[in-house]
Amino acid sequence: MSERRHALRLRGSIFAKLLAIMLAMAASLLLMVSSVFILVVYPSSISMSKQVFDEYARTLAASSPTLETAKDLRRRVGLQTRYEGPDGTWGTAVGLPTIDQVRKGDASSFGREYYVESAPNGGTYLFVWNFGQHMHAVHVKLLWLLLFSMMAVVLTAYSFQKRLLRPVRSLDDGVQRLSAGHLDFVLPVLTHDELGALTDAFNQMVRRVKQMIQARDQLLLDVSHELRSPLTRMKVALALLPDDENRAGLGADLNEMEAMITELLELERLRDGRGIRCERRDLVPILRDAAKGYEQGPPGISFVGIPPQILLDIDGEKIRTVLRNIFENAVKYSLPNSDAVKIFAEQKGEWVVVRISDDGPGIPDADISNLFEPFFRVDRSRSKKTGGYGLGLSICKRIMEAHGGNIVVQNNARRGASFILTLPTVTAGQSSGGCSEAGSAPGSLVY
Ligand code: ADP
Repeated sequence: MSERRHALRLRGSIFAKLLAIMLAMAASLLLMVSSVFILVVYPSSISMSKQVFDEYARTLAASSPTLETAKDLRRRVGLQTRYEGPDGTWGTAVGLPTIDQVRKGDASSFGREYYVESAPNGGTYLFVWNFGQHMHAVHVKLLWLLLFSMMAVVLTAYSFQKRLLRPVRSLDDGVQRLSAGHLDFVLPVLTHDELGALTDAFNQMVRRVKQMIQARDQLLLDVSHELRSPLTRMKVALALLPDDENRAGLGADLNEMEAMITELLELERLRDGRGIRCERRDLVPILRDAAKGYEQGPPGISFVGIPPQILLDIDGEKIRTVLRNIFENAVKYSLPNSDAVKIFAEQKGEWVVVRISDDGPGIPDADISNLFEPFFRVDRSRSKKTGGYGLGLSICKRIMEAHGGNIVVQNNARRGASFILTLPTVTAGQSSGGCSEAGSAPGSLVY
């Protein structure tokens, strides 16, 4: 599986593609050079040398060379000679074909040229020249040389390109971090070209997104603060009104506004781990306590795998708030024929993972990434039937992150959604005053 993933990643890598293009170019160049050599250089040099040597063989035979002269020629230019005639039969090498064999065409001709010439004394000379073999050896050497020099050029060019394209890797890393919701980073500008400018623009974009989010949070905070005083005045004024239906309705609306403002202020209080007081607690009784009131159903809650004890450094009350929020949603959004909500907890290395799976409608895929944003609701109509303002899950996320943990949602294979809470164990958090560092969430954990 991991090999397949690796192969897919390689196929999608621009660096692998560049290397493949360069190797393909080198291979076609090699093919071109060897084709030119085989189809043009080799035949034309053979035919030229044949004409020249034809003349030379005739002149040589006319000078009636002795065995000594022939041996000297072999040493100097690699020419083999065989003589058959009145002075006997001799050759400069063992295994040379006889003149008769050459005339009949029985001699091996690979890379060899045969010249049969008559001598003035009535004898016959056979000259064997291995010009073709020489040419072949030169060809092979040339190809090896070309191959090595091309590999050297390809590897050097590749390492330069890799260096030049370093910003692409860095940008890829930045995009991954941004999509994971991290905004506290600045990518280094590694080059002073278009890619450097792109990195700069990316850093500016991240800065702007961060400013916009900060402005949004600040606006929410300011509005919440500003609304508190008029709300209190309205409540006082309401108490002076006659006790009738209108007063009850107004009172309910004011209470709802007050609850929303309290949740918004709570959301702000939890930023960067503020408002959390951790101590060593057992998560199991907190889980069971939070489920109380929802167990009787419908659809009910069932614990399917919980260890006897899970000791963690947590703010028990805040974790209970998270759990109650998730249980309440799971029950609220369940369908008439839904199975019970299942709770499962286990320790995975340095993390404790709690999985809460319901059998409701699940979350539309397009909404999963926004689910933990303040005021986000799948049902945009904000109907009174399902209640809520879409602040519950964003508070849960802040609480989990303040513990150095995380919360994610996944749709189940069959039906419904699973909320997965991750908390660091005591060793993973290495906390001093209780809670772990916010933001050290378990990015690589596979749920
Ligand atoms: P609310 O108070 O509106 O429930 P939350 O922040 O708790 O706000 O939830 C945000 C939205 O996420 C809800 O409005 C709902 O659309 C969706 N949601 C939350 N939990 C579930 C669930 N278990 N099944 C389906 N949808 C859910």
